Amino acid sequence: MSIQLTELSEELLTCSTPKRLADPRCNEHLAGSSFEACSATLAASSVSVPVTTLATVPSVSTCMMTSLSPPPVTSAVHDISLPVSSKSGISPPLTTSDVSLPPVTSATGTSAASFVMTDTSVSPLTTATVTSENNTSSAVIKSRKRLRDECKWKRNVRKKVLKNLGKEYTSISGKVVCEKKMRTGCSENCKRKCHESFDCEKRNEIFEQFWSAGEINQQRQFIADHVQRIATKRKTTGKEASSRKFSFLYCLSVENCQASSVCKKFFLDTLGIKEDVVYGACKKKCSGGVVTSDQRGRHMKQRRVADSIKRGIRQHIESFTPVESHYCRKQTDRKYLPESLSLRKMYRLYQDSCKEQGTTPAMESTYRKIFNREFNYYFFTPKKDQCDFCTQYRNTSSKSEDLERAYQVHCAEKEMARQCKENAKMRAKSEPEIIAACFDLQQVLNCPHGDISSFCYHRKLSVYNLTVYNMGNGFGSCYLWSEVIACRGANEVASCLFRFITEHASQGGKIFELFSDNCGGQNRNRFVATLYWFLVGSIDAIESVTHSFLEVGHTQNENDSIHSAIERAARKAKIYTPEQWSAVARTARQNKPYSVQDMQLVDFINFKEVAKEIRNFDVTDAGCKVNWSKLRSIRFSKAEPNIMLVKHSHGDDYARVDLMRRKRNVTSAADVQLPQLRTTGLHLSAAKYKDLSVLCAKYLIPPAYHPFFQALPHDDTA
Ligand SMILES: [Zn+2]
Ligand SMILES: [Zn+2]
Repeated sequence: MSIQLTELSEELLTCSTPKRLADPRCNEHLAGSSFEACSATLAASSVSVPVTTLATVPSVSTCMMTSLSPPPVTSAVHDISLPVSSKSGISPPLTTSDVSLPPVTSATGTSAASFVMTDTSVSPLTTATVTSENNTSSAVIKSRKRLRDECKWKRNVRKKVLKNLGKEYTSISGKVVCEKKMRTGCSENCKRKCHESFDCEKRNEIFEQFWSAGEINQQRQFIADHVQRIATKRKTTGKEASSRKFSFLYCLSVENCQASSVCKKFFLDTLGIKEDVVYGACKKKCSGGVVTSDQRGRHMKQRRVADSIKRGIRQHIESFTPVESHYCRKQTDRKYLPESLSLRKMYRLYQDSCKEQGTTPAMESTYRKIFNREFNYYFFTPKKDQCDFCTQYRNTSSKSEDLERAYQVHCAEKEMARQCKENAKMRAKSEPEIIAACFDLQQVLNCPHGDISSFCYHRKLSVYNLTVYNMGNGFGSCYLWSEVIACRGANEVASCLFRFITEHASQGGKIFELFSDNCGGQNRNRFVATLYWFLVGSIDAIESVTHSFLEVGHTQNENDSIHSAIERAARKAKIYTPEQWSAVARTARQNKPYSVQDMQLVDFINFKEVAKEIRNFDVTDAGCKVNWSKLRSIRFSKAEPNIMLVKHSHGDDYARVDLMRRKRNVTSAADVQLPQLRTTGLHLSAAKYKDLSVLCAKYLIPPAYHPFFQALPHDDTA
């Protein structure tokens, strides 16, 4: 009675300890008959295996190897190896859970019987690691830092992909390692007549199959299956103390052909490998014939942090109360911890709490790792929560009725302003002729700028930057100028807006919705209003301009992100001239870079002069006074170019203000010539000029920039 190999596999599957075949014939072979002799015996002998001989004999693997003759076949029986799809026993990259056996053609002569085994022994460690890592990464949706994806690392792509595919690659040290090529093989004089068994085509097939696997463990398994290590039979050197203990027997096979033994040179040349690779693979072959998987970096003896410690860290991090970002809560689940806190400080607090509890704290790196990978916390208090009035309200214990009322109005206006801006944004996104934008002046930038302490103690050249953020398309514009070109008042702001609006009007913008904070000197004043009057009255494309003011204390808008991007970009830069600031701003954002314009003298317009054409800014048609410091929105439209609409609350309707009220000669905006603000630059104060000279004299400013600083216009006397 006998069983076929397929049945045998089932036997293997069901047994927890694999049953191995003990073939009585093995004994003779063990005694030392050669590989070829062995094959010959088997070729002649019966193919099927007596079932009675099935027994658990773990140590007979060697005999197994020889008993079923050419190695590929023997391995087929008890090795977990390669899917049938592959011709010479190498499969496409391995999935550890799905490993099957190669064709059993050569020795048995039966059709390629194969079967799939669910493998647990190939590399349990790998699977376990991968799964556990996957689990943690999928549990954390978004963390403070990007999670490392080692598979995509260049060096791993090089090593794991190119190298294992036998392709050319550059090693870490920069050395170019050539592509693997099949070599010529042994000469015609070879005793084994290798070339007769394997013609060029067959060799190519084997070579291709071997390298296309692209997986080191499979390749080693292939080698282990085709190379047999046996004890040396006779000493040829004559020396007693020869250290050589083993001989290697090589064979190759292709589908539908009998495996036949080949010489070493032929084997190595056909696969395009060197002998070290063979020795390495054989060393890794364990008693069952399975090559132990590559263990580099997988020894699992790495120091592991106990789960209880990790839990402690998480609990500690969670004990802080983060605030949600009001400003961009829709886009992100990022949370903020107070600015006064830092990771270092948090770790110290953690150490303290461990001391109190009598536990050993983890290393700081562990704490950081968990903080960065599992939490999405940032250290920053959104400015939204820094409103003076809100703080005052919160901190007042006995709240008067007036305060309550004022606070409610404040909150309502805040909400309405936000809503108003949100609506404008949505409309701008869907209709290209609506341009919704917010603008703000950045904090003063300095020339020179850099982390040199002397820079702190000297006055520097100021550079101003007005940023406009287009909410419709997410683009940012920066308008930069230095203090010798212009100040930063209403005229300057209006001049920048003039450029922004005319530019966008020429590109199809018709309806402009602007948002800003309430600064009277810069944004909410008659001169900026004059600009709008001029625009709707003189430029055909512009239908209306609305400028809404965000609620005091809650004026944060997208400009802050432009400003912080520029600050971030400048953090490590050394900047000496206003042009260099422009360059920094231009490159501050990689994706959608900011458009940066250097404002020159001619770009600044004197809107204060133009405002003289307007007679009335202060009384509505209904006879009410316009309170400029309380205005929440102003609007100008082409339909009535000489009417300004004003709102004192976002919830009110607009009130009309006739700009030409009781004026005899009504001026049309179209007739107005825009006067340039000034024809010569402004002067630096003598003190500032002196400070800059000192920085030049000390060579804290490099000589290349001395002419620029020396040429700055300045006052002579202090
Ligand atoms: Zn040969
Ligand atoms: Zn507030």
